[in-house]
Amino acid sequence: MDNYQIADSFSLLAKLIDIHGENSFKSKSYAAAAFAIEKLTTPLNEIPREKISSIKGIGDSSARKIIEILETGKLQNLEEIISKTPPGVVEMLNIKGIGPKKIHTIWKEMELESIGELLYACKENRLKLYKGFGEKTQQSVLENIEFYFKSKGSFLYAQVATIAPVIQNFFEKLFPSKRIEITGAFKRQMEIINELEFVIEETLTIIENTLQNTEGFELVEKDKDTIVFKSSNGIIIKIYACTSANFIHTLVATSSSEEFNNSINEKFPLLASSNAISEVEYFSAIGINMIVSPLRETAEIVEMAEKGKIPTLIQPADIRGIIHCHSNWSDGSNTLEEMAQAAINRGLEYLVISDHSKSAFYAQGLQEEKIREQHLYIDELNQKLHPFKIFKSIESDILNDGNLDYADGILAGFDLVIASVHSNLKMSEEKAMMRLIKAIENPYTTILGHMTGRLLLSRPGYPVNHDAIIDACAANHVVIELNAHPSRLDIDWRHIQKALAKKVLISIDPDSHHTDGLDDTRFGVMVAQKAMVTKMDNLSSYSLEAFEKFITERKKLKGI
Ligand SMILES: [Zn+2]
Ligand SMILES: [Zn+2]
Repeated sequence: MDNYQIADSFSLLAKLIDIHGENSFKSKSYAAAAFAIEKLTTPLNEIPREKISSIKGIGDSSARKIIEILETGKLQNLEEIISKTPPGVVEMLNIKGIGPKKIHTIWKEMELESIGELLYACKENRLKLYKGFGEKTQQSVLENIEFYFKSKGSFLYAQVATIAPVIQNFFEKLFPSKRIEITGAFKRQMEIINELEFVIEETLTIIENTLQNTEGFELVEKDKDTIVFKSSNGIIIKIYACTSANFIHTLVATSSSEEFNNSINEKFPLLASSNAISEVEYFSAIGINMIVSPLRETAEIVEMAEKGKIPTLIQPADIRGIIHCHSNWSDGSNTLEEMAQAAINRGLEYLVISDHSKSAFYAQGLQEEKIREQHLYIDELNQKLHPFKIFKSIESDILNDGNLDYADGILAGFDLVIASVHSNLKMSEEKAMMRLIKAIENPYTTILGHMTGRLLLSRPGYPVNHDAIIDACAANHVVIELNAHPSRLDIDWRHIQKALAKKVLISIDPDSHHTDGLDDTRFGVMVAQKAMVTKMDNLSSYSLEAFEKFITERKKLKGI
């Protein structure tokens, strides 16, 4: 082991001691040793062991540790402390602008254990509530995390959505009058994008020569018909070169899953030589309606298309109201009126305000007194904003025992209740199911919020039995939320068909904490399309009148 590696071990040990909030004297002395080792001009393993402790900046304790590393290649103290630290917390050391002391607060006080959770907390304005974290720090932490994720190579759909058209536009200038289309996972509206794919009507040689001479594109690899670059913003870009005759075939084939492709190729072998000029024409040549790209997933879809059984999919314009959002009464950035006005500006008919409940102290959850106050204020606003309507709701924490956060008398005052898990997320499936089922069976629960608590690219979510939850929601007339925040998209679209088959309503909800967040609804619509959701299946597509009727009838049904 060379001096730099040994210095790194000491430096990491010092940081981890600070992260754990342990003996700061020790951490200072290890940090000093790391500094001293880095400055040494002689390799440590060439210095007689007994002389190491007399090197300036290295005391007896550090000298013993250096000898341990030289002899065993390991440092037991370091290994022990690493094993006691969640990997996501260690990873936070890669984020510029937060040192070990801040990470200690993030881990121990905010109870966040991964960078993704930290990013989400920044977006929910939660960091600035803690000592040493002002608005400015929160903003810079947020930017540094986004940068870190970019450099890691996987992106949320929403992140790529802002970059993809810019790159397409750039290619259109580089290859004028050639057809260029985005394909792959992005065209299939997948929630996570690992590479951004394009079909370009051009030869591979010309594409290669052009991009190799373009700043910001670094060649990664090439094949017979494909070439891969890394762009300066960290996105992997894969390009399929094709002729104008096979452009559409390439576009469809590269925007389909393997299962879908195999099924299509088996049933319609002649398609491979199709020279259709549009995707609609491509499918009509085999006598079926166009299968849109988000549906190109399974063999079953091909069969449904053959039988003409694919329904009309929900569209962003089918959303009529905002269900699930937060105002500055709890942890949102905007006032209730600003949120309502933003919804009005988007042509929507209603807004369900669901601030956090009292146990969510980190989000300034509402005490009973505040709820009464908010309800009076909503009545006032509703007079002012008529015919637009604000509905009274709460995002009630599902407590550790599965109960909701208020007594029935308070719960009865809401038009609807969204029940979500926010605490003790690390639990077994058995525990998670006990909490969820109990909450679903509570007559006041109208909507089950973000079912698994997952945060894409950072937190897998607690284990659940989707089928059992869907059955319980069907039996108790509970709506399942499709949380449209691009980091959540929870319930996973792969389970939605099962819910629809049991006549369970889905609600595409933005869970926005600021006015801009209302637009996240469209990310929910995009994954809902993958699950063949129609506007009839989605509660937030109900008109104001239908929504009011839904609430009244449900209350009657539940006897509440
Ligand atoms: Zn929530
Ligand atoms: Zn929420």
